Amino acid sequence: MAVKESLPYDPQNVFARILRGELPCNKVYENDYVLAFHDIAPKAPIHVLVIPKAPYVSFADFSQNASEAEITGFTRAVGQVARILQVDGPGYRLLSNIGEEGGQEVPHFHVHIFAGRALGPMLP
Ligand code: C5P
Repeated sequence: MAVKESLPYDPQNVFARILRGELPCNKVYENDYVLAFHDIAPKAPIHVLVIPKAPYVSFADFSQNASEAEITGFTRAVGQVARILQVDGPGYRLLSNIGEEGGQEVPHFHVHIFAGRALGPMLP
């Protein structure tokens, strides 16, 4: 079921549990601000999720409530992960689903990195 934007942060969501080490992940990168790991059900040859370590429900929450340092740290980390994955040459796609109509499933802000093939024109 998709996330309702108005919900408070749920500390039992699956990404919160990954951050606490209660569930495993296939880690790509970690720093003070973010954790990046391979999506468990990849929709492209490379499909990585970048999540902030702090508890934000969605981009809407993050963009409004995160500090400048968190926003800068997150943004730079996404670029760093793309370089680690060596996709910045051929190119890649960033996506964040937000709220119920945006199709968000996990109520912890995350950015998808898709790459590894020609992704074609953007779908809605
Ligand atoms: O943007 P949205 O919330 O729909 O995406 C959630 C993503 O989290 C899905 O692509 C799903 O495969 C991934 N996921 C994961 N590991 C989990 C649970 C979900 O990578 N344990």
